[in-house]
Amino acid sequence: MDKPTDTPPSTRASGAEDLRLLRFFSTASLVAFLVVAVLLGYVFKTLSVDNLVNGYQSEHVNHARIIANETWDDHFDPLITITAPLPSDQLAASPHIAEIDQHIKKLLEGTKIFKIKVYDLKGRTIYSTDLRQIGQDKSANAGVIAALQGQSSSALVHHDQLSTFEGELTNQDMVESYIPRFDPATGQVTGVFEIYRDATGLVKEIRKRQIELVGAVIGLLALLYLVVFSIVKRAQDKLTAQGRERQKVQAALAEAEERWKFALEGSGDGVWDRNLTSGEVVFSSRYKEMYGFSDADLADRNEPWDARVHPDDLPQVLADRDAYFRGATSTYVSERRMQSKNGSWKWVQSRGMVVSRDAQGRPLRMIGTHSDISERHAREQELQLSSTVLQTVDEAVTVTDADNTIVSVNPAFTIITGYTQRDVIGKTPSLLASGTHDRAFYQDMWQQINTQGGWHGEIRNRRKSGQLYVEWLSIKRVCDTKGQVTHYVAVFSDISERKASEERMHHLAHYDVLTDLPNRVLFGDRLTQAIASAQRDNRHLALMFIDLDKFKPVNDELGHPAGDQLLRAVAKRLRQCVLRDSDTVARVGGDEFVVMLHDVESEQDAMTVATKIRAALEQPFELGEHTVSISSSVGVAMFPQHGANESALVKNADIAMYHAKDAGRNRVQFFHDGLSASE
Ligand code: GH3
Ligand code: MG
Repeated sequence: MDKPTDTPPSTRASGAEDLRLLRFFSTASLVAFLVVAVLLGYVFKTLSVDNLVNGYQSEHVNHARIIANETWDDHFDPLITITAPLPSDQLAASPHIAEIDQHIKKLLEGTKIFKIKVYDLKGRTIYSTDLRQIGQDKSANAGVIAALQGQSSSALVHHDQLSTFEGELTNQDMVESYIPRFDPATGQVTGVFEIYRDATGLVKEIRKRQIELVGAVIGLLALLYLVVFSIVKRAQDKLTAQGRERQKVQAALAEAEERWKFALEGSGDGVWDRNLTSGEVVFSSRYKEMYGFSDADLADRNEPWDARVHPDDLPQVLADRDAYFRGATSTYVSERRMQSKNGSWKWVQSRGMVVSRDAQGRPLRMIGTHSDISERHAREQELQLSSTVLQTVDEAVTVTDADNTIVSVNPAFTIITGYTQRDVIGKTPSLLASGTHDRAFYQDMWQQINTQGGWHGEIRNRRKSGQLYVEWLSIKRVCDTKGQVTHYVAVFSDISERKASEERMHHLAHYDVLTDLPNRVLFGDRLTQAIASAQRDNRHLALMFIDLDKFKPVNDELGHPAGDQLLRAVAKRLRQCVLRDSDTVARVGGDEFVVMLHDVESEQDAMTVATKIRAALEQPFELGEHTVSISSSVGVAMFPQHGANESALVKNADIAMYHAKDAGRNRVQFFHDGLSASE
């Protein structure tokens, strides 16, 4: 049950108003009913009395005629004639009065008439059953005047005291009539009768009926009043209840409106409320604040729609709104730049909906919000850019989740690996593994990713086609705000070609093009390493310089290409003479080769190999249609005994070789101090 304090003040005021109205209605209708009842009673009485008077009057006319017939010629006519010259005060003294009086009283016996008066044409009372009244002048009496002019008249009158021939009567209602007496021959008025008749009983009856009537009318009207009152009361109660209900609904609506306004404002959105008929618009405080307006700004409520929309965005805004009003979209949503008070632009999302319509469904009012989406817009732009970069970049990008399952790859990934996005989503990057890296390689890689957040380096992988390729791979770990790994991002580029070209360059720089043997540069490096290693391990090295004897004539006689062919054949034979992989065969000049033997026990061993080489090269070479026989001169220097460093060793081997030449060619010459001295 509602406590009085729960009732809104407006409802209480309306209740009091209703009560006042009801009271007013009750009083007014009661008064109206009483007036009607009294009027009805009055009308009834008047009609009844008139009826009575009229009935009595016609009876009196008859009585007057009877009395006149009986008395006029014999009594009143002579009396009028006799008394005409007499003054009024002598009229009662007429000797005829007693006789007339006797006659009249006889005539009136048994009738309800208890008094009669007769007037002469001057209005004087020539006879009255109350003899004391004879002689009275009634010429000014209206009834007498009317009767003298031929008009009968009657009236109900009340006498407190009246002398009749039946004696003195008190408090008497009666009908009093003035009846003219007409001469039968001439039709002229010859006198006037005044006749009194008792009406007390009838008047009482009329009064009683009047009271009954008024009582009945009042009773009926009271009944009617009660019925009407109860109907009005019920209607009033219903209206009051409806009013309360309406107030409640309005209060609930107002509360709901307050609540959603609060919710919208609380969410940081600005609220607008536009009357679509009048164009009036109301902005919330937050809305104004968003655009740098003060609360007093925009208070005139007449800012047109789109007044602050960026001109470039206006066509889209209009299209969005049109789509909503056409019913193509269920809510009005439009993103655009809006101008702030200071002229700057702000990206906002405007949302809205029509909240009331007229009977024809035309929109009347629309409410909506503006949300500041500047940050989101900037982020979207960034994301758009990132996405474009990701789609167009030459580097392959693989994103895996915390379990290293692939969640996304870019087009470059497909170009490099041959796998489509559909091929790899849900799998791990190990499907690219070439099998050329051992377990330790991957363990190191993951260790570095997990401890340092990333890894980069070269890795050999396998394309979908099975082809191996080298990629430059960079992997980064992505963590959430709590430091939990959410993703790994791998970016890689195919560096196979670069690697191949690098290797080609390296090869060209270090190998002889014709024979594919290490060239002078690579030989120099290897010699340095070999000396260092021999020094460290305290071992011996043998360095052999081999120059073909009389090679020029081959060129001259068989042509340069045949010379080349011979050089390649020599290289091949030299390689066959050197069995260990660690030993080096190099071409260091036109027809000059070097053989370097690691870990040689003695000069004897070196001599064996050198002799084997010389003998091998002595064998004829089959160069297509030609068979060429050639010899070689071999100079040998041993480390450390014939040179403690590269240059000394090279120089001494060279010296030994030249000595072999000088000594007649096709021989092996070991370096010794004597040779050095002879230089
Ligand atoms: P010697 O017995 O004194 O060594 O005389 P030789 O004819 O072998 O002449 P020498 O060693 O002084 O010169 C080597 C010649 O080899 C010089 C050059 O014409 C030739 N030659 C150098 N490089 C090439 C090459 O790449 N191809 C061919 N076909 N000939 C070369
Ligand atoms: Mg030579």
